[in-house]
Amino acid sequence: MSFIPYGKQNINQNDIDAVVAVLKSDYLTQGPVIEQFEGAVTAHCGVKHGVVTNSATSSLHLACLALGLGEGDALWTSPNTFVASANVGLYCGATVDFVDIDPQTYNMCADALEAKLIKAKQLNNLPKIVIPVHFAGQSCDMDAIHKLSIEYGFSIIEDASNAIGGKYLSRPIGNCQFSKITVFSFHPVKIITTGEGGIATTNDPALADKMKMLRSHGVTRNESEMDPTLSNLNTNQGDWYYQQMALGFNYRMTEMQGALGLSQMKQLDRFVAQRSKLADQYNQLLSGIEQVTLPFQSNRAESSFHLFPIQVPSKKRANVFRFLRENGIGANVHYIPVHMQPFYQKLGFKFGDFPIAEGYYQQAISLPLHPSLTDEDQMYIVAKLKESLT
Ligand SMILES: *Cc1c(COP(=O)(O)O)cnc(C)c1O
Repeated sequence: MSFIPYGKQNINQNDIDAVVAVLKSDYLTQGPVIEQFEGAVTAHCGVKHGVVTNSATSSLHLACLALGLGEGDALWTSPNTFVASANVGLYCGATVDFVDIDPQTYNMCADALEAKLIKAKQLNNLPKIVIPVHFAGQSCDMDAIHKLSIEYGFSIIEDASNAIGGKYLSRPIGNCQFSKITVFSFHPVKIITTGEGGIATTNDPALADKMKMLRSHGVTRNESEMDPTLSNLNTNQGDWYYQQMALGFNYRMTEMQGALGLSQMKQLDRFVAQRSKLADQYNQLLSGIEQVTLPFQSNRAESSFHLFPIQVPSKKRANVFRFLRENGIGANVHYIPVHMQPFYQKLGFKFGDFPIAEGYYQQAISLPLHPSLTDEDQMYIVAKLKESLT
């Protein structure tokens, strides 16, 4: 049997044709196809605006800047995430801190958040932004976190990199009912892909305009966004004219990637249905194995099933991982708690700061989960997992 990766893109002939068509067209960098892709994502989510970029990391960075994060501010996120969710706060010159996870869902715990907010209020260092992360594709308890955001005055960015196609309270993640901005990733291991890419969705037109300007150097060609008070050469005399209004970046996505994304969006529902079916099958095949804790499914959320994270006894985890890899199974571990990274330890974080996330990590194994995984693959993975635990 060939190697079974933990995650993998699913590219069909329509995807390929869509990319090739763009290569033969006039636009290669951000143009009309990117706008169509943004429209497809916003229509799916039931949200007003979408701003596509070259990665979810870029989108999270722009989201923080659009919400005014800067020096002297604080950003809080989950320790059970990829490093990017925290790094974007540091890009903006803010400080970063973490909120421990819920032992059942492995998402940011709303009660832990509240306890930390009560302390922060007394010390007058409340966060400006909180980034809950929808781990493995299952939404955080956004209702509770949103209520806290009103009481304590912070903005919410949902890191839904894992979670396009998922739902919360029967509505699509990305609709921003409980947040200012939601970010999805289109990295190849995620639910749909553009190679590299991300999008930020929002219902606030001012936030969307800010993110659009910052994704392209902070430059505008839109007269209504220009500064009319400047003299000398700074007057609009023709169509060549633009103004740089802020220090932006080149975070644009190419049209080829946009075409791939647009084509992939047509398959989103099918991908999620296939992932969901495979997750159900794992749950059946693995039920009753005493040493395995299956991922909890909240009845308030419908996961996109980006990952299938199980827990095995911490003493056996490294052996289980090695045995699976030796047998051609691309098991993985999500996530090493961000605060335990050497870079974050240098900032003062230490083992013991977020014990639930640390305990979760020490027992974590992600089993392969992607739409092209076959029933035979799954039987094989489960057989090898059982063998590794004996
Ligand atoms: C993948 C991922 C990111 C980063 O996404 P990129 O598109 O690779 O920048 C950030 N946060 C989480 C939770 C992710 O899974």
